[in-house]
Amino acid sequence: LLRVTDLHKRFGDEEVLKGVSFEMAPQDVQVLIGPSGSGKSTLLRCVNRLTDYEQGEIVLDGTPTSEMDENDLRRQVGMVFQDFNLFAHRTAKGNVTLGLRQVLGLSKEEADSRAMAQLEQVGLADQADSYPAELSGGQQQRVGIARALAMDPKLLLFDEPTSALDPELIGEVLGVMRDLADEGMTMLCVTHEMGFARQAATDIMFLDGGTIVEHGPPDKLFEDPERERTGQFLERLT
Ligand code: ATP
Ligand code: MG
Repeated sequence: LLRVTDLHKRFGDEEVLKGVSFEMAPQDVQVLIGPSGSGKSTLLRCVNRLTDYEQGEIVLDGTPTSEMDENDLRRQVGMVFQDFNLFAHRTAKGNVTLGLRQVLGLSKEEADSRAMAQLEQVGLADQADSYPAELSGGQQQRVGIARALAMDPKLLLFDEPTSALDPELIGEVLGVMRDLADEGMTMLCVTHEMGFARQAATDIMFLDGGTIVEHGPPDKLFEDPERERTGQFLERLT
């Protein structure tokens, strides 16, 4: 479904991604870990072209993303952000309907009914008319997930979706993510929640020094990592 080949990205003199390659099959749940500043967010942003890159190729479902219309790409690749990125002056439902109206061109009625179905899926149907400021962080993030899901994406990107949340609110967001994984959503997740990774990930990639230094199923990485560096990093997370 997704193939990233030899991706290079620099900011000024600093080469952040130095040849990153990986593939994802449909329904894969790929967890991406790595130290702060290793380029995890940058990698996700390259995938949906929120940022450009110097070299490499990203192919989504057979089509190089460089040849896709940006709106079309972002419809097919949803993103959930650390700080939710909700519109403060729109209700939960209004946040979900925005893309449905503007990008998909649905009628108000169609957009409303689809938004309500998505809010239901993340357990927030009764908060549809609340504004972000009236919602907890966990609820806001679930609206963020509903908004991404509403576009019926092929792939969902998560950039540390729970790291801005109070500990007691993390579980509800991880629960929604686990449900999505169980339903077969293809997901690329930057997260330090290793409980989620163990339960839901098909693969974990460890990004360090601009390259993927280790990539494998969770059991292998946790029990018997190839690289000492991976083991040390995981030990600090768990
Ligand atoms: P964190 O775990 O802290 O979120 P990260 O792995 O997501 O880190 P990135 O945000 O991708 O790391 O940043 C990788 C490197 O690129 C960092 O050194 C950062 O300073 C640099 N960088 C990121 N965005 C920009 C930008 N817009 N302009 C200049 N440098 C940037
Ligand atoms: Mg980041």
